[in-house]
Amino acid sequence: MPEASITPTLIWFRQDLRIHDNPALQAAIERGGSVIPVYLFDEAGEGDWRPGGASCWWLHHALQDLAAQLDKHGLRLILGIGQSASELKRLIAETGAGAVYWNRRYEPAVILRDAKIKEALTQRGLEAKSFNSALVFEPWEIKNQSGKPFQVFTPYWKHCLKRAIPAPVEVELKHAHAPRNWPATRALEELALLPRIAWDTGFFPFWTPTSAAAKQRLGKLAASHASGYTRNRDRPDMDGTSRLSPYLHFGQIGPREVFAAFARYDAEGTKGGRKFLSEIGWREFSYQLLYHFPHIPTEPLRAEFNHFPWEMDETLLSAWQKGLTGYPIVDAGMRQLWTTGWMHNRVRMIVASLLVKHLLVPWQEGARWFWDTLVDADLASNTQGWQWSAGCGADAAPYFRVFNPILQGQKFDPNGDYVREWIPELRPVATSIIHKPWEGGGEQLGGVVIGRDYPTPIIDHSRGRNRALQAYGKLKALR
Ligand code: FAD
Repeated sequence: MPEASITPTLIWFRQDLRIHDNPALQAAIERGGSVIPVYLFDEAGEGDWRPGGASCWWLHHALQDLAAQLDKHGLRLILGIGQSASELKRLIAETGAGAVYWNRRYEPAVILRDAKIKEALTQRGLEAKSFNSALVFEPWEIKNQSGKPFQVFTPYWKHCLKRAIPAPVEVELKHAHAPRNWPATRALEELALLPRIAWDTGFFPFWTPTSAAAKQRLGKLAASHASGYTRNRDRPDMDGTSRLSPYLHFGQIGPREVFAAFARYDAEGTKGGRKFLSEIGWREFSYQLLYHFPHIPTEPLRAEFNHFPWEMDETLLSAWQKGLTGYPIVDAGMRQLWTTGWMHNRVRMIVASLLVKHLLVPWQEGARWFWDTLVDADLASNTQGWQWSAGCGADAAPYFRVFNPILQGQKFDPNGDYVREWIPELRPVATSIIHKPWEGGGEQLGGVVIGRDYPTPIIDHSRGRNRALQAYGKLKALR
């Protein structure tokens, strides 16, 4: 068919903010006709999980980056605000588009919205097609021998690894045609994604929120065969993990690209490479749980935990959020989160454990706080992380295993560097007591007064542990 007679295709970008390994974009190019890239800021379409403050910050920059990349190929990113269905309708009328292509998302509210949109577009005689860009394996592809979703990670990932890992999709942007006339767009600033007060100043030195930065970080890690990953991944005082999570969440890099980068160096066979790729596996596992158990962002996967005797306490929650619990490793993590929009995985587990066990605050409160403050806030991984920590999820840490925040600090931040980085008031404190400064005296404290310069522990560790075990005992008694 001659090019001009083919109607334009709207390529609806969502959490796939990249021009490489993007099957919807490639399909739009292959369809012929012009390609019109669109991003719609549809808060209502996200249901109860509109992006939080830190995610919005990232999104702003990721959109700016995507627009710049498209621009280099003569394409524009058209921005819309409002309900996706009506915005798409408006754009179709304005451009005469005959097709809408997008890459799939898996959050329950988004699945419902997208299914309705697909049906409506198809009924109107438009081509509506969706593709997979976000996962190596989509949630319905992997089932156990009984045809059910896996609920334990190790057999799940073993099963996945027996299958062929799909290669990234080549996108031939040189064949993409721009329309003669572009539809109207909103300005990026109109999406109002950046904070009104400057709490994001700490984000800039920590992040380069571009696709190129993701590729660079991944390339470095793969070229080194992730050799230090197994050893250093639990050390928050080191730059020992990839920090790819926000890029993966917003689709600035895809998991197939991660596998391909490792395959190139034949590093998936190394211990570090295997361990790193299994973390990508946890991401996949989280998505399949969310897909098959769509109630889990707010309710425990293990139903008996609906009767857990939580003791919601706003004062305790607020001290935890502010990094004022008196446990240095916990407070360092909470302050790293507030300042940079990210927290090291080991520390996420420690802070979550303190909240849901020592303080008996419901895990949903912690998940909400993370949702608003993490640049990588992701409904699948956040839900899984919190349910794992609270002992109520799939393959979860048993509730009776209570992390000791002092020992965790001593083991994973042995010199106290992480604590000193995020808690300046503890910098003078000697390493021997940096994770339990309330036990120090005289010279060890270097002039710091506990209770004045830094809080005493919000709860004594043994008391907190016993409280948690008693609460768990009550739950067991109900069974
Ligand atoms: P790396 O160690 O370099 O891992 C590589 C990638 O694997 C990560 O980027 C991430 O995409 C994935 N990954 C690693 N660990 C996990 C995991 N346990 N579960 C799922 N995927 C994983 N991760 C998020 O992306 N978004 C969240 O909202 C989120 N909330 C969490 C909440 C809690 C309470 C906990 C305990 C964990 C949470 N995680 C979340 C998982 C994990 O902490 C982060 O993915 C990781 O810290 C990101 O840093 P990284 O990219 O350097 O990880």
